[in-house]
Amino acid sequence: MPSLLRKCDICRCWVDPERVAAVPKSKLCLTHAIKAEAYGGEYRLIWRQERTSKAGSLKLNYGSVIPKSVRNPSAVERVRLEYEESHF
Ligand SMILES: [Zn+2]
Repeated sequence: MPSLLRKCDICRCWVDPERVAAVPKSKLCLTHAIKAEAYGGEYRLIWRQERTSKAGSLKLNYGSVIPKSVRNPSAVERVRLEYEESHF
């Protein structure tokens, strides 16, 4: 079982374990995740055509368009700058 103890990337406070359980890949506490939303979100969803040409690929969604959520570093960075400006 993965640990539910995690510190926020921005403020280093403990992220609510319930939030970690709900959004396991998030590295932000709720406060900073909400702030990141204003810049497009900690994660954003991208859509791509699944590749079917690669050897050894799992052809589960053959030829379909699948969503993928990717980390949005610029949003996290802007929240970090905002946080630092207000604390130093
Ligand atoms: Zn935080």
